Amino acid sequence: MWRRLFNLAAALSLLLCVAVCVLWARSYGLTDQIVWNRADGVRSIGSYGGRVVLALNESTRARISAYGYGFHHSRDKSSPVNFSVVRVSVDRGSTYSDWEGGGFKWYMYRPLANNYLIVRAVAPHWFFVTATAILPLIWSALKLRARVRDVRCERLGLCRTCGYDLRGTPEGGRCPECGCVSRGAPKPPHNPPLERTAAAV
Ligand SMILES: [Zn+2]
Repeated sequence: MWRRLFNLAAALSLLLCVAVCVLWARSYGLTDQIVWNRADGVRSIGSYGGRVVLALNESTRARISAYGYGFHHSRDKSSPVNFSVVRVSVDRGSTYSDWEGGGFKWYMYRPLANNYLIVRAVAPHWFFVTATAILPLIWSALKLRARVRDVRCERLGLCRTCGYDLRGTPEGGRCPECGCVSRGAPKPPHNPPLERTAAAV
């Protein structure tokens, strides 16, 4: 059950990773943006110039855009105004925060006088590629480790599940230790088996 869930999560994560890579490559020539127009303002997520930008413009006096309310996707060659972070003179009592580092940006402004809120969160595409690549990489590493263990067990004539020495067990029989069916004939050992040595003595 958990293994299936993990496989599914790793596959989905890999798909997302590929999608982000495509968006990343596109972002240098095209701007992709999904805009959500609501009565209380506009929310959008966009991909532009190697960055993903989350924008929130909240206002009680929001104007209805040409698209009306709801979601729409836009594609543009020019950089959208939404992506720029404008420095403002902050009035006393207004809430303002601003941070930037390593390709990440955060900007939030809520003036005291007017009832609106502007938020911008910017993160580079490489961050999302790295985040979505973690699960597929762990999956690959586990598969590789299992394969290496299988090859080693086959070479040494050991049970692939518990590592029990199967050299004395008939081919295709069950492992006396864990009950799993041994796959394939174990290779002849480098040293003569104990019983043969004992018989020779
Ligand atoms: Zn076993």
